[in-house]
Order: sequence, then structure tokens, then C-alpha cells
Amino acid sequence: MMFKVPRGTKDLLPGETGNWQAVESLIRETCRVYRYEEIRTPVFEQTELFTRSVGDTTDIVQKEMYTFQDRGGRSLTLRPEGTAPVVRAFVEHKLFGQPDQPVKLYYMGPMFRYERQQAGRYRQFVQFGVEAIGSDSPAIDAEVISLAMDVYRRAGLENLKLVINSLGDKETRNAHREALIRHFEPSIGEFCSDCQKRLEKNPLRILDCKVDRDHPLMKTAPALTDYLNESSAQYFAEVKEALDMLGIPYEVDPNLVRGLDYYNHTAFEIMSTADGFGAITTLCGGGRYNGLSEEIGGPEAPGIGFAMSIERLLMALDAEGVKLGDSEKPDAFIVALDEPSRLEAVRLLGELRSAGIAADMDYLGRKMKAQMKAADRIGAKFVIMIGENELEQGAATVKNMEAGTQEAVPFREIAAAVKQPS
Ligand code: ATP
Ligand code: MG
Repeated sequence: MMFKVPRGTKDLLPGETGNWQAVESLIRETCRVYRYEEIRTPVFEQTELFTRSVGDTTDIVQKEMYTFQDRGGRSLTLRPEGTAPVVRAFVEHKLFGQPDQPVKLYYMGPMFRYERQQAGRYRQFVQFGVEAIGSDSPAIDAEVISLAMDVYRRAGLENLKLVINSLGDKETRNAHREALIRHFEPSIGEFCSDCQKRLEKNPLRILDCKVDRDHPLMKTAPALTDYLNESSAQYFAEVKEALDMLGIPYEVDPNLVRGLDYYNHTAFEIMSTADGFGAITTLCGGGRYNGLSEEIGGPEAPGIGFAMSIERLLMALDAEGVKLGDSEKPDAFIVALDEPSRLEAVRLLGELRSAGIAADMDYLGRKMKAQMKAADRIGAKFVIMIGENELEQGAATVKNMEAGTQEAVPFREIAAAVKQPS
């Protein structure tokens, strides 16, 4: 029997992991300068955490969760997103009591959603996200958006579009909800069965429907921004002002609603506008979630965050033809010509590596010519040759492959010579 990687997942082979590591380190570096610290939560949580916070009318909860019972009869779910677990940890460990507020956190790790597989959509994917919890200043909304944009820019992306909207507060949402029901109710029979259910439970979700997105009533639907009360409108204006101060261009899309229930006020998405990116253009989504902490049993703690998948970031880099750093070439390869030399090679290899030099040797008992070829193939900067003569003289032949020079170097001086080529 031949085994295959499960549908919707993929193996990252050595040729690809270099790109991933480059992205991961630029993400960590960006978080460092913005002063966001890493948090790691388990990959599974109590199912109810997600049904309560993400919302039971959302696609995630209705169709996409990997839910199972463990041997103790508990219902657990592989995390489909990172915000609920982070806020759960924030509440559980009373991070709201820390003197340094707001609490600024980031996470990076696998998420799981049972989705139809297509380009840019996997069943296991890696999300990087941040959460700033404990402040409702519009300036922190702008900071979070700016951090996301910075990650993409540092990675080298140029074709980006930031779209923002405000979902307002509870009062706004209720007024808008009434308007949505009036708008859709007379023709709800023309919509998918999910939308028919959404009409009563959560009509805002209709605007995010992927089946009925081209229905004419979608375009004429009442816009949230027309229902913002004064304080919500003021908040939104201040977020935009802060973005202006940061020099971050944006578009306002009054129909942007996010896929999760817990959002209010600021909502945003970052898309790739690169040609050839394909049908799915959203790279990142986020927003404010005041009230989520209370919803899961914590104190009042306004928060804002975003999530992006590394998979889609890499797709966007591909679409723009941006290359991240090549995989690193080793400093040295030792070519050993006989058994005693091989033993010396093992010793020298240990010494070089202790000195922080990336080095390798032949383990297949190959002839000299084949060993030289191997050194060439992996792009070693130095080839160190050891044979009978070299052992006798206590000095190896060290070839500088870039300069095309070679010299005899006493064994004890090889590490230094490779580290600082003369
Ligand atoms: P979509 O509308 O594409 O389904 P979403 O609203 O479900 O997106 P979020 O839950 O906001 O997405 O997740 C944030 C980001 O995570 C997305 O913008 C995207 O970059 C990424 N993402 C979401 N689902 C997947 C997936 N199945 N595979 C890869 N990346 C994903
Ligand atoms: Mg989705």
C-alpha cells in the first residue's frame, strides 16, 4: 500500500523550507520592532470555545471544524483560527492584570479547516496573527494594520490593496440588521439555503455569502457605514486619520464584513493585486473584537488583531516574481582519499562545525572525482582535500572554489583559514 499526504495538506520539502524560514524570520523581526511578543497555545481546544466566539452561523463552525471526542469523552476541536485561543489564554492567565498594557501578542502555527481544496486553500495551513488586547485607541487599530502591511512590504510585495470598513458598535449593528432583514426578506427565496437560515440568525452573514455573491440585491444592500452612530463614525474617522499619519493608503469598502462573528468597529483585509494571483486574492483579514473577552468569561478587554496565512504570502511572492534569499551554501566540503584520511576528515569536520562552519563530507565511499562533483553540486566555498601525502605533512590541500586558488594549510589552521579566507 502506498500512503499519500492527506487531502488538503502538503509536505514542505527541503527546497521550500528555506523560503518558509525566511518569511518566518522577517515576521519575527517585524513583531520585534512593533513590540509584539510570541504566544503559543495548543493546537486543540474545547469545541465550545470556537462555537461561542467564532459564532455558530459562520462557515467555520458550520462546515469547517475538525471536531473529535477524545478517550475521556471530551469534545475537542483542532483550532481553525488563532484569536479565540489567544483570548482564552489571556483570560485564563489573567494577562489583563499585567502592568504593561495593552498586551501585544503574536502567534504563528498550523490551523485546521475542512475546506474544499483549491489554490491557496488548504485543510492545514499556517497562520501568523497578532492580537493587541486592552486598548480601544484607534491608534492601535492603525498600528496593527501597519504591522501587517510592513510584513508584506519587507517580504518584497508591491501590489497590495488595503480595504477597510467599520462594523460599528452594537447599536449600529442592530439598526443595520433591521435594514438588512427589510432588504432581503421579500426575495429570500432566491437565495441559497444557508442565506435563508442567516436571514433570521445573522443577516450580516448574507453579505459574505460565496454562493450568492452576484445576486443583484447584494449590490444594493444597506451599507453598514450608513448606519454608524456618532461615536462609531468618530472612531472610524480616527482610525483613518492614524493610517494617514502612517502614510498607509486604503480604500473604504462599506460591504466588507469579516467571516467571524466577534468583529465590531474596524474590519480590514489586505489583497494582492498582482496579475496571475488567481481567484483568491485576500492575503490577510482582521478587525476589532471588543466584547470577545467577556463572551468567553473574562473581564472587559477590547482587542484588535489580524491573521494571514504564510501559504498565501508565498503565493503572492510567486505571483510578483519576488525571490527570497537562496538556500545557504556550505562553507566547506572535505574530500578524503583513503581510509586513514576519512578518519581525519571525521575529526576535522567536528572541529569545523564547533567553530560554526557549515561543513560536510562524503558518506558513500565515493572516488575522488565523484566527491569533487558532490562538493561542486552543493556549492561548497572551500574544498579540503586529505590523502596520504597530506596526512604525512600534517597539512591539507585547501581549494578556494570562488578564487580558484589552492594552498597547503596545517590541520590546526584550517578552521581559521576557512572562516577568514586570505
Ligand atoms: P476566505 O474568505 O478566503 O475563506 P476567511 O475569511 O475564511 O478567508 P480568515 O479566517 O479571516 O479567512 O483567515 C485569515 C487569513 O488566513 C486569510 O486572509 C487567508 O490568508 C488565510 N486563510 C484562511 N483560510 C485558509 C486556508 N484554508 N488555506 C490557506 N490560507 C487560509
Ligand atoms: Mg474561509
